[in-house]
Amino acid sequence: MAIDGAQTGKKGSLLSRALSSTEPAPALEIGGGCTTMSEVRVLVINTGGTIGMVPQSEGLAPEANKLAGALKKMPVLHDVAYANETQLYSRLKLGKDTLVLPASKQNKRIIYTILELHPLLDSSNMTPAEWDKIARHLKINYEKYDGFVILHGTDTMAYTASALSFMCENLGKTIVLTGSQVPIYELRNDGRANLLGALLFAGQFVIPEVCLYFCNKLYRGNRVTKVDAESFNAFCSPNLPPLANAEVDITVDWETVWRAKTTKRFAIHTNMNCHVGLLRIFPGITAAAVKAFLQSPMEGVVLETYGSGNAPNNCPDLLDELKKATDRNVVILNCTQCLHGSVTSVYATGKNLMDAGVISGADMTPEAALAKLSYVLSKPGSLDKKRKKLEESLRGERTNSPIGTQISLKDSKFIQKIAQSLLISCKEELGAVKDALTPPLACAAAKSGDLDAVKALRNMGGNLSFGDYDGRTPLHVASCEGHLEMVQHLLKSGATMYAKDRFGATPLLNAIKFRHHSVICLLRTAGAHLSSQELVNVGTELCSLAFNGDVDGLRAWHLAGVDLNQPGYDGNTPFKVAEAAGHVEVKEFFSQLTT
Ligand code: ASP
Repeated sequence: MAIDGAQTGKKGSLLSRALSSTEPAPALEIGGGCTTMSEVRVLVINTGGTIGMVPQSEGLAPEANKLAGALKKMPVLHDVAYANETQLYSRLKLGKDTLVLPASKQNKRIIYTILELHPLLDSSNMTPAEWDKIARHLKINYEKYDGFVILHGTDTMAYTASALSFMCENLGKTIVLTGSQVPIYELRNDGRANLLGALLFAGQFVIPEVCLYFCNKLYRGNRVTKVDAESFNAFCSPNLPPLANAEVDITVDWETVWRAKTTKRFAIHTNMNCHVGLLRIFPGITAAAVKAFLQSPMEGVVLETYGSGNAPNNCPDLLDELKKATDRNVVILNCTQCLHGSVTSVYATGKNLMDAGVISGADMTPEAALAKLSYVLSKPGSLDKKRKKLEESLRGERTNSPIGTQISLKDSKFIQKIAQSLLISCKEELGAVKDALTPPLACAAAKSGDLDAVKALRNMGGNLSFGDYDGRTPLHVASCEGHLEMVQHLLKSGATMYAKDRFGATPLLNAIKFRHHSVICLLRTAGAHLSSQELVNVGTELCSLAFNGDVDGLRAWHLAGVDLNQPGYDGNTPFKVAEAAGHVEVKEFFSQLTT
């Protein structure tokens, strides 16, 4: 990712700066047509909620097949002239539910398609079946879009965001849930700004998390809770600062952004365990009530306790019921009723719960804890393993003390020396120096295959997904060089494989161009794919390789998942070209592919 206004805090208008941010998302092929260099695609999954509600006889309720048409009449959310001039609909073979945002300063466009679920729901009616439905749509469309927005009612948005954060495994693209407190059809509403902000984050940034955008803030989805039924500022993230603030500047806190450090491809997990529940302790709660709640088929319970995780310890029957339940393998996760803070074992009243086999939920929200229980209990494995998983941070949902010593920016002698020579002393300027230096240094280390140097930069807090002045990330460079171990390390450090350099190339294309077959296979396993820009004229490129008898080059494209039968500019296929040029080895290679 290139360093730009969005990260360095340069001033400018909100919209222009949002659109000028260049953590790049690739333009992708949809329905056979081609997006241009300046276009990105976002899928908006509309599940319902106030944002698309209209007054009906019994009160506000969602109305089907209305949203896309209404948004088309809002110039800030749809540029009719651009759609017509560029023949958007015929070029991309799009239906009427696709819209395009006005241009950014750099003439970039977010083209977004609205997929409306049936029936649209007030989110009070949401169940895990709807989470499954949303997850399936994300999976089906994952490679076709650069980012995703989910329109959702605010009442249970924190539950859905939490659930999806676990259900989406090895996520590499941005998913943003949003909605509003007032329908978008009303004159004064918060829906327009929330939708616009969510689209900008989903289309312009690679923040590979399930996020929630509301009232100018982008939060980690599994850290939020709804705190206000009347204010536009309906959500808060009590134990984690926002991932991004969309004020005059859009500032992303890249160090807080959670990344799946993996070489596995995106997958969804559905069919969460439904035998879970929330039990709130209150003064006078009886052992009988607790006993009843914990009966079979209950398999997991989030116990909402007082303060730092305390429950009455002067009622032995109650503790006994909890102990009996954990002995029966019912998993009990302790979360505080307080908005802010964490479960500890400071008090005897809390320690006694731990003794009864209750697991600490640290600073998780009850919503996240419930979703996590449901997710972990629906996975195969021993109960011991599941209990351990609950104590880990799986998607950044709980604050665990870091393992080992983390070197802070202040401890980095190297950065300090540079700062001194530049007469820099304040934290912000030091951060800017680090952000400016990390990309070229990390790219140099990636080029020479110096794993230790890359690790040291990471430990200094350097972001390995940032690009240099040409938008080239360490992953681009390592892919060009064919450093398999380095590519693996970068992916496992959370480097994004969807970054595009200023020439529009992804690391996968770099690996193809330099015929690094093992790197191509690794990137493909991790879910990398070529964008439509990268596939323009691919037939001609293949014919040229065939003409030159370049089996290695052809194999590289094949390993990247490209169909080698695509004709070149003159309609001849690569096979025909090889035949005419008398390249027997190329013909043999083609026949091996078909057998
Ligand atoms: N009842 C609505 C819902 O959750 C509230 C909202 O969207 O703000 O669907």
